[in-house]
Amino acid sequence: MAELKKACVVASCMRTPSVREVTFQMLEPTTLPRRAGQYILLHARGPDWAVVKRAYSIASAPHDPTRFRLCVKHIPGGPASTYIHSLVEGSEMRFSGPWGKFVVDDEVQELNLVATGTGMSAVGALLEDELARGRARRVTLCWGLRNEADVFRLHELEAMAAARPRFRFTLALSRPTEGWSGFRGRVTDLLFRDGEPRGLYYLSGNGAMIAEAEEMLRSTGLSEASIRKEVFFTPGQIRVPLSEGQKRQANRRRPGTVVVGLGLHAGAGAEEILAAVETTLISCNLRLGDVRNFATNAARSDEPSLHALTRDTGVPVEFYLPPELERDQSCGAIPSLCEVVARLSAGSTELLVPKRKTGSVTVAIAAVASPLSVGGSAHAGRTP
Ligand SMILES: Cc1cc2nc3c(=O)[nH]c(=O)nc-3n(C[C@H](O)[C@H](O)[C@H](O)COP(=O)(O)OP(=O)(O)OC[C@H]3O[C@@H](n4cnc5c(N)ncnc54)[C@H](O)[C@@H]3O)c2cc1C
Repeated sequence: MAELKKACVVASCMRTPSVREVTFQMLEPTTLPRRAGQYILLHARGPDWAVVKRAYSIASAPHDPTRFRLCVKHIPGGPASTYIHSLVEGSEMRFSGPWGKFVVDDEVQELNLVATGTGMSAVGALLEDELARGRARRVTLCWGLRNEADVFRLHELEAMAAARPRFRFTLALSRPTEGWSGFRGRVTDLLFRDGEPRGLYYLSGNGAMIAEAEEMLRSTGLSEASIRKEVFFTPGQIRVPLSEGQKRQANRRRPGTVVVGLGLHAGAGAEEILAAVETTLISCNLRLGDVRNFATNAARSDEPSLHALTRDTGVPVEFYLPPELERDQSCGAIPSLCEVVARLSAGSTELLVPKRKTGSVTVAIAAVASPLSVGGSAHAGRTP
């Protein structure tokens, strides 16, 4: 495992309603030698105190190795960005790095930097580093944001462009207000503004923009080697908290032939849940020993009754995030939550028992797609 480094916060401020800029001072070791465009792998603490590892591009140029800056958008419910936004002056954080190959080796070819949102961190460091060097090549920066509320660093970038004729900067707003007099549209609309693309392209931020820009550039014959990418995220990508992902993997190795999906009102009691589960199991000749795991909605992960259920039965509960639930398109009628989570967790489309409601609890049972064979029989423990 890479050696963990330690740094502490020396300044922190909100640049927009959702983007925080945090400056760190290196503690252990006292310097962070790096190249412009690289990132660190932050070891954040999630709400359940589990370690969550996320990449963050270093937004400052590497001139001062004792300090570095991050620029982080807060993703509601996102453990790492929430952690960074909670740091105050003096807070310490651990990370590994620097990592990454989003660096500039060529000193001659025209440099085209294209970013969306906080993708500006990575290209901003490249820009700062490049302009500090006495080179003649042209540098362009096209930065895409949604609207005026998302804009930061504007005056700084405009001042850089005014002071250095070789640098040109365009801000593209995709959904500006009526009063916006700058460029309206997406950054990809700017790619061919000056004719055929030439030189090097550094694309950073939203994975969808990067894929589109790459395709557009490649279609003109630009070589793969001329395009560098730093994908911060892919829209629609679902990320399960590390601890939940590990728990799910461990559950796949548990014996049991069925998954019990649960839907419950907040505050439902442990006894009521257990009674509903047992009644439903008995109705199809199953018993608790046949249950590989329970599954429910992540919004219920704080319910003490579910923790009591695991404690009393020895059967773990898996928690599913809303985007994972939205993926379930397997039946024509609108499925119930308990059915969706049961099928998702079981990895199967087959429901042994569709939704049954008992008081404030709904239960559905799905057969595990590839049950672990225990004692030579995948159905060991099943009540005759
Ligand atoms: C090399 C690299 C460098 C990165 N540098 C930065 C950086 O400098 N600043 C920064 O804010 N983020 C950066 N990211 C994204 C960062 O690693 C996390 O993914 C992000 O902060 C969300 O983490 P989370 O734990 O809070 O939420 P998660 O639970 O991990 O994510 C929740 C959802 O948010 C989406 N998401 C992630 N980032 C964004 C975003 N910026 N805008 C909209 N949706 C998003 C994810 O696709 C996911 O679906 C970088 C990613 C990579 C791979």
